[in-house]
Amino acid sequence: MTLPATPTREFITGLPKAELHLHLEGTLEPDLKLRLAQRNGIDIGQTTVEDVRATYAFDSLTSFLAVYYPAMEVLQTADDFFELADAYLARAAADGVRHVEMFFDPQAHTSRGVPFEAVVTGYHRAAAEAPAKHGVDAHLILCFLRDMPAESAAETLEASVPFRDRILGVGLDSDERGNPPQKFAGVFARARELGYRLTMHCDIDQVGSVDNIRTVLEDIGVDRVDHGTNVVEDPALVDVVRERGLGLTCCPVSNSFVTDDMKATEIAGLLRAGVRVTVNSDDPAYFGGYVVDNYVALADAAGLTAAEVVQLARNSFEASWLGAAQRAAFLADVDSYVAGYGTTA
Ligand SMILES: [Zn+2]
Repeated sequence: MTLPATPTREFITGLPKAELHLHLEGTLEPDLKLRLAQRNGIDIGQTTVEDVRATYAFDSLTSFLAVYYPAMEVLQTADDFFELADAYLARAAADGVRHVEMFFDPQAHTSRGVPFEAVVTGYHRAAAEAPAKHGVDAHLILCFLRDMPAESAAETLEASVPFRDRILGVGLDSDERGNPPQKFAGVFARARELGYRLTMHCDIDQVGSVDNIRTVLEDIGVDRVDHGTNVVEDPALVDVVRERGLGLTCCPVSNSFVTDDMKATEIAGLLRAGVRVTVNSDDPAYFGGYVVDNYVALADAAGLTAAEVVQLARNSFEASWLGAAQRAAFLADVDSYVAGYGTTA
């Protein structure tokens, strides 16, 4: 074993890893958006890839969401959803992703008349084909939009029941401002009854971030937290997260878009404190960074060692919702990659 002195992009790319915080709708690259718009006869206001790319500009979570949701109009049929997920899975494979739990936002589509079934059918087909086609084990997490009413989330949850075997768990995303986790306590209790795993976004630097993290841990009883980096403000809560072995799905590149900071110090501090921190790409088409870019950005900013980067990859499988045997197999793949690294010319 010859680990590099500093973790190079080549070392990070080859490292087997899981991605646990990835919004499929956030993987809509400008070229695919334009192609789907043309195929579906939708006027998006631009006719070249460069012009579409120029619209992918924002400086806060709110301005990002104002670009993000209208873009989804180009997604109409099960084939469109398939192509979106399939393109992401090919890209993820090139980054050494071996297992992914992908978020999708059914309400962003059903609210504009696209059937729930078309969304799930297209995404699930891409996930089902991914092991043979891309060498990636892929699963779906249904996210509720927190800026819509709890009743809409409850209806979406019930619509998912016929597709229960295609969906691993549920999450909560979109704008946290004024939409605290308690708003969805009943929906998440019902999701737990249905056998879904639970996660929720606790976004960066929100009003009441720490209180919201405490609520998702103690009242909702989530199995994982998306972002959650503000937990550093409460050492007692950090102890709870560490002792439970709860995964935090951090996204350094997206943090630097929606705030003025990647939060590298906080993320690295949590990692070094033994918290199960993971690194992920969030909405890579919009933030300009897939998962390896996020590892590289964090490693550079926080001065991570190669061993710490390996710990991040191990954490990604430990925090996943894999079964014990599959998790052990992926962790063994990490070990053999590290053991064999630098030993062959
Ligand atoms: Zn997210």
